[in-house]
Amino acid sequence: SKTAYVRTKPHLNIGTMGHVDHGKTTLTAAITKVLAERGSGTFVPFDRIDRAPEEAARGITINIAHVEYETDTRHYAHVDMPGHADYVKNMVTGAAQLDGAILVVSALDGIMPQTAEHVLLARQVGVDHVVVALNKADAADEELVELVELEVRDLLTAHGYGGDTAPVVRVSGLRALEGDPKWTAAVEALLDAVDTYVPMPERYVDAPFLLPVENVLTITGRGTVVTGAVERGTVRVGDRVDVLGAGLETVVTGVETFGKPMEEAQAGDNVALLLRGVPRDAVRRGHVVAAPGSVEPRRRFTAQVYVLSAREGGRATPVSSGYRPQFYIRTADVVGDIDLGEVAVARPGETVAMTVELGREVPLEPGLGFAIREGGRTVGAGTVTAVV
Ligand code: GDP
Ligand code: MG
Repeated sequence: SKTAYVRTKPHLNIGTMGHVDHGKTTLTAAITKVLAERGSGTFVPFDRIDRAPEEAARGITINIAHVEYETDTRHYAHVDMPGHADYVKNMVTGAAQLDGAILVVSALDGIMPQTAEHVLLARQVGVDHVVVALNKADAADEELVELVELEVRDLLTAHGYGGDTAPVVRVSGLRALEGDPKWTAAVEALLDAVDTYVPMPERYVDAPFLLPVENVLTITGRGTVVTGAVERGTVRVGDRVDVLGAGLETVVTGVETFGKPMEEAQAGDNVALLLRGVPRDAVRRGHVVAAPGSVEPRRRFTAQVYVLSAREGGRATPVSSGYRPQFYIRTADVVGDIDLGEVAVARPGETVAMTVELGREVPLEPGLGFAIREGGRTVGAGTVTAVV
C-alpha cells in the first residue's frame, strides 16, 4: 500500500513565470536536483517537466507541470508551464492559488514582453510576493547583470511590488543542473530567499470547501478522479460535495496528494479527489467541487478590468460594449458579453468598470480574479466587484 502523506511542514504553492526561453524549466529542474542532493525531494529532469506525463497519455495538451519539494522549513508545490499562449491562461486562472512566484529573467536578454505581462497578471490576481531569479548569470558579464537587475526592480515597482526590497538572486539553472558548486549554491540562495521573503499566507481552512477542477482522470477499477488546488476549506473521505457545472452531488471516496493518500486535504493543497459514481464525461476542467449549498453559480457580474496595451501583448484597438471575448475564471473558460455602460469604449492601457454576462453559470464572488482572452492572447485582467 502507498505511504500516507504526513503534514510535517507548512505547505506553499509557488511557480516560475517569465519570458519564454529565459530558463524557467531548466531552473525548475535545477531546484529539484539541488534539493534531491540534500535529501529533500526527488530530482525531476527537464524532459519530465516540459512534457508532463499526462500530456502524452491523454493525447491533449495539459499545459501545466507540478513538481514537489521540501526546503528545511517548508513543503512546496511548484508549477511550471511550457509555452506562452497557454502559460498566461494557466498562470492567471491558477494564480489565485499561487502564494508567491519566482520571476525568471535572463540576464542576457533583460525584460521582454512576456516578463512584463506575467508581472502585471500576477499583480492582478493577487500574487503578493515575487522573488527574482536573474538567470543565465553564467553567460552574462557583470555590467549587463547589474543593468538587468535595475530594470527588473523598476518593473516590479511600476506594478506595485516592492522593487527595492524584492530579492534578486543571480543564478544559472543550467550550470546548477550540471552540478557546478558555485551555481548550486546560487540555487540554494534562491530557495532561502523564497523561504524568507514569501510569507505563509492566511489559509481559509474554516471556510466551506471549494476546489476548482483542473483536470479529470479515470483510474481503472476506482472511478473518476478530479485534480486541482483546494481554494478554501478542508475535505475528507466520506464528505458530501456538489460538482458545480456538472449539476451533481456526490461523495468523496479518496483524497491524495502527489500520489500519497491523505486524511484531510486543506486550503492550499494540491490534491486528487476520487468521486463516487461520477461518469468520466460528466466532469470537466472548469467545474467546481464545493461543500453542498455553499456557492451558487451565476452569470452576471460587475468587474474592474485592466485592458492590456499592445506593448504588453494586448490589443492595438479599443474594446466596446457588445464585445464577446473568453473569460478565464478559476479554471473555467467561458464566453462573455461585456457592457461598458456610459463609457462605451475602453482603450488599451486603461482600467474600466464593466458588467459581464457569461454564456453559462459559474461560481462567482467579489474579489475573484480572472483573465480575458481573445484569439489565443490575453487582452485584459480583472477582478469581480459584485455579483448581480
Ligand atoms: P523556458 O522557456 O523559460 O522554460 O526556458 P528553458 O528552461 O527551456 O531554457 C531555454 C534555453 O536557455 C535552453 O536552451 C537552456 O539550455 C538555456 N538556459 C537555461 N538556463 C540557462 C542558464 O542558466 N545559463 C545558460 N547559459 N543557458 C540557460
Ligand atoms: Mg519551459
